[in-house]
Amino acid sequence: MDILKDRTAQVGLAGAGAPIACGKVSTAGSVSQRACVFCGSRVVLYPVADAVHLVHGPIGCAAYTWDIRGALSSGPQLHRLSFSTDLRELDVVHGGETKLARALDELIELHRPRGAFVYSTCIVGLIGDDVERVCRQASEKHGIPVLPVHSEGFKGTKKDGYAAACRALMQLVGTADVSDVPKLSINILGEFNLAGEAWILKEYYRRLGIQVVSVLTGDGRVNEIRRAHGASLNLVQCSGSMTTLAKMMQEKYGIPFKRVSYFGLEDMAAALYQAAEFFADEPSVLKAAQQLVREELADLLPVLAKAKARLTGKKAAVYVGGGFKAISLIKALRHLGIKTVVVGSQTGSPEDYETLRQVADPGTVILDDSNPVELARFCRETGADVFLGGVKERPLAYKLGLAFVDHNHERKIPLAGFVGMANFAKEVEESVLSPVWSLR
Ligand code: SF4
Repeated sequence: MDILKDRTAQVGLAGAGAPIACGKVSTAGSVSQRACVFCGSRVVLYPVADAVHLVHGPIGCAAYTWDIRGALSSGPQLHRLSFSTDLRELDVVHGGETKLARALDELIELHRPRGAFVYSTCIVGLIGDDVERVCRQASEKHGIPVLPVHSEGFKGTKKDGYAAACRALMQLVGTADVSDVPKLSINILGEFNLAGEAWILKEYYRRLGIQVVSVLTGDGRVNEIRRAHGASLNLVQCSGSMTTLAKMMQEKYGIPFKRVSYFGLEDMAAALYQAAEFFADEPSVLKAAQQLVREELADLLPVLAKAKARLTGKKAAVYVGGGFKAISLIKALRHLGIKTVVVGSQTGSPEDYETLRQVADPGTVILDDSNPVELARFCRETGADVFLGGVKERPLAYKLGLAFVDHNHERKIPLAGFVGMANFAKEVEESVLSPVWSLR
């Protein structure tokens, strides 16, 4: 199989050739693993647990994204309900604004949310409903923020959906009092509390004496997001989804941001040290970070050594949403004695791919916005033993007879932090060494 002509620049090898092309709309006929613009917005905002999430469009868009993340809430569970205006043929002819206003009235009266997000889908962009006006009127009527999310599926890539979500969040930021927020304070951006990961990270920062003002958007609350401008620093984990918001907050409120990753040993420790470095005039933070890393590694390293002894020599294929996470995973897999032979992402940036080309072993296949045919081919050609990916890669891996580890937003086991690295080792070990693969 040859790679589609229009995609050749998006496929390359570590240590050789030209930089990987990226940030393009998906090639027609490629059957991309990416989702649409609307889905990009939906996954970013979904964990805000005390808001109504109303999908303005046909029912299919809502069904497609219902309960799409394993994002846990410590309180309200409103985010887990999927609401749709269920636009039909007559609405397309006459317009859906009346239906949208009625749906908002009904949902807000029934659920008493702290806010509402209204997602515009493809058809809304085509018929031209004035979603801004309907949201503004609903907001005035009910006294809560009702925020339009301009996420028509056709108008770009999934990354444009992330940006639309950031613009909606930015309307909330800065609308509440922050006089009681201390100087040692941060926001964590691009952390979605999958399987409770945000709680693990918050506990680490608490041990450092740093207050987390808001996690965007894991275990999110409207009133916390409104106070996010009070923090001294933004730490951006899923940079593909949240750098837009970090830049907007830097411009409007002067809050600097740093990119971090909470996956793997080095990157988790580096994330803590980055905060300590930022608050360098408080030496207690650095001391606490050093102690935390020391204590956590004392527990973790023996676990990794045991897993490594059983896994050394295995090969992995990695295909995830963002490029920054892929970089962390290559490093994490090395601690288990596993070499990454294929690596790619849906929405990686030029900087991500450049780093991947340097971090990955020479000859590793690197892919941007790939498709099942390419992934299957490179898994076979490189002899990968395990596939790390998400819901769309799982059936592909099983069809190829490969072990699979879910590292996407549906996962039920926390993989972030030091404790997450121990879970990761266990997940990889159990899947790779399962006797079922000998029956292929
Ligand atoms: S592409 Fe359009 S119609 Fe399809 S799920 Fe996305 S918004 Fe809905």
